[in-house]
Amino acid sequence: VEMTRAVLDIIIGNWKYDAVFRFVKTDFLLSEDGSITREHFDKLENYVLACGIEGGRWTSKRSWPAMPELSLDPDHADGAAEGTTEEAEAVERPRHAPEWVEQCRRIIADPIAELARAMKASSNVRGMCEAMYAFWMALGVPHKLERMSQDALFDGEVQLSREHRQIWGALLDILDQMVEMVGEEKMSIELFGGMLDTGFESIKMALVPPALDQVLIASMDRTRPGQIKHLYMLGVNDGVIPARPIEDGVLTEHERDTLQQIGMELAPGVRRKLLDERFLIYQSFATPSDSLWISYALADEEGKTLLPSEVVRHVRGMFPRVQERLVMAEPNEFMNEEEQSEFAVYPESALKHLIVQLRQWRQGRPMANIWWDVYRWFAAQPAWHDRLKVLMGSLLYRNQAETLTPTTSRHLYGTALRTSVSRMERFVACPFSHFASHGLKLKERRVYRLEAPDIGQLFHAALSRFAIDLQSSNRTWAALSADECRAEADRIVDMLAPKLQGEILLSSKRYEHISLKLKRIVGRAASVLGEHARRGQFEPIGLEMDFGPDKPLPPLRFTLSNGCTMEIIGRIDRVDKADSDRGVLLRVIDYKSSSTDLKLQEVYYGLSLQMLTYLDVLITYAELWLGSSALPAGTLYFHVHNPLLQAANGMSVEQAYEQMMKKYKMRGLVLADREVVSLMDEPLEKGYSDILPIAVKADGSFYSNASVATTEQWDMLRGTARHVIQDIGTRITDGDVRIDPYRLGTKKACDFCSYKPVCQFDELTEGNDYHVLPRMTKDEVWMKMEGGAAEDGQERET
Ligand code: SF4
Repeated sequence: VEMTRAVLDIIIGNWKYDAVFRFVKTDFLLSEDGSITREHFDKLENYVLACGIEGGRWTSKRSWPAMPELSLDPDHADGAAEGTTEEAEAVERPRHAPEWVEQCRRIIADPIAELARAMKASSNVRGMCEAMYAFWMALGVPHKLERMSQDALFDGEVQLSREHRQIWGALLDILDQMVEMVGEEKMSIELFGGMLDTGFESIKMALVPPALDQVLIASMDRTRPGQIKHLYMLGVNDGVIPARPIEDGVLTEHERDTLQQIGMELAPGVRRKLLDERFLIYQSFATPSDSLWISYALADEEGKTLLPSEVVRHVRGMFPRVQERLVMAEPNEFMNEEEQSEFAVYPESALKHLIVQLRQWRQGRPMANIWWDVYRWFAAQPAWHDRLKVLMGSLLYRNQAETLTPTTSRHLYGTALRTSVSRMERFVACPFSHFASHGLKLKERRVYRLEAPDIGQLFHAALSRFAIDLQSSNRTWAALSADECRAEADRIVDMLAPKLQGEILLSSKRYEHISLKLKRIVGRAASVLGEHARRGQFEPIGLEMDFGPDKPLPPLRFTLSNGCTMEIIGRIDRVDKADSDRGVLLRVIDYKSSSTDLKLQEVYYGLSLQMLTYLDVLITYAELWLGSSALPAGTLYFHVHNPLLQAANGMSVEQAYEQMMKKYKMRGLVLADREVVSLMDEPLEKGYSDILPIAVKADGSFYSNASVATTEQWDMLRGTARHVIQDIGTRITDGDVRIDPYRLGTKKACDFCSYKPVCQFDELTEGNDYHVLPRMTKDEVWMKMEGGAAEDGQERET
């Protein structure tokens, strides 16, 4: 039934992903010889999601493409950290999907395409029914149902086995009835599907097995009068019985009356439905021959009060001597033993109540002796041993991951750890999340969708390409006009767009529009960067600078206290250089698609190590790279975005330009040296800089809110970052995999973590608490660093 519903949804909805895989997961397509298994289709599902296959692509003659590239950059640094770069380089990327994908596609698409063609060609319902019958036969439905029936019987599922056996006959009956009733009529596929669906609904009722003694659970309108001894009417609440009528038609009651008077036949209206409902209530109440039990709920699942139905009021009026009873859903401490024993009648539910009682008892609440008897009963029944053991285990459950043994840790990570800074930051955020991504190598399923990281990647790649192209054509950013920047941005985005997420930007008009917006963002960012260049002396000297073994710069190397070694590798977006009286100055610039700042407390805790590590690499290897030592001039984030300007009474072009520049102000940290600042923002004399996160007083000193650090403080920062990195490396190689997410203010490690289904972190579970990092002001962080980085300064939330 589900398979037929799904296949009709595929045809009606033009091959939507959901419908296709609902169809596939009914397992009617699996081959008997095991050559095509569920695993093949699961993999196909991943492929289809990653490539965004939908609609006519299922039936098109064109081959499907190969899996889209993950990154715009095949040399991505994190990939290198996982040891995948070499593999990626060694294998030339295929252009088409592998053969097994095409094979699975044909298995799915061919019969459905044939069914769709036959149905569309049918001139009436008879033809459509014949097409459906041919489709079922082509899929071997009767044979597969027979096998399912036998399997169910083998597993002791007699009822299920009977259902499987009966369903084929029922399906044919429905087709026969449709041919009989409307066989010669022409019908749309939608209507045909609707009729078939109605037929399927009725099959369910036909499967209730007739027996002398049975419990029949049904809605009021399905109860057959005259055959019932005891009737339990549940949920006799206000608004439920009788049901509140919903007026959803286009005609009012008055209009209906008028139409009926002139002889028009209409479906029942609200008034009629109300009368029917009352008749149904009467009929149901009058049905049982021996007893009638009426119950209503006092509250819903959220604890909101519910009122009894007016029916209850009538019954009370008619039978004033009827006794009412309050029935609790669960035993509680205010009940006596006898009342509680009523909950220990049926083993399945008694076991659930027992576990709840034991849990409450562990928390210090009283527990009636009857539950100890129940426990002993279960303990003495071999058939219940396993269930009891599992449920008892849940009482002592703590959601924690054990530290890996040294052997496991070495197997997983080796003794020479090669890692990126973002991986370190992930570890600090939550060791388990690091373990899931780098130890277990769990990856989220890829979906063909443009997401924030893809846009960030495009910005990165576009601005880097921009700078590289300028360098190779011997031009400078400062010399470009805004129009030239825009034209260049258009060219570069056009060049990169086909490489992003399997040509997603070219896949529809909507994405074409997004692509246009992205071009504007890159063009504007490029012209602002041109203005930055005009205002200062710093020149880009390194773009996409790799550091690591066999790269332009060596990795940062550490020997850890447990004997392992660690190499930090990565890629620096952009390095700028300027010459000053104090020598060579270097600054790092990182392009970000979201507003980011360098927060000292996050550096101290190890949550933000990237920029400082990059600067550390540059300063450490400056002699090797540039032939002279260098001083850190700053680490800055440039936000690539489309700022919205606001003004109450409009603004001039100059004012708009000024406001826009402020919106592009870089964030981060700069060397506390007036001369160095002048090399970055020459026109600045006093007050706030338009491009740097600083403010200067008339006497040349800095305001207290300026993001500046002295040479000593830069050394301290570098030292702290190194210390933290070493500590992280040791903890990783010691096998620390704790579920221990941080919380700093309102920021939490779990906010954007995709491993929640794996770690099952839940604050309501005992022992699952956030690792609270106390907030610190800038001065407190400097004091802590001065006092030595050894102090941890962290506390546990209670
Ligand atoms: S969801 Fe939270 S606790 Fe779970 S792995 Fe992610 S960060 Fe850690």
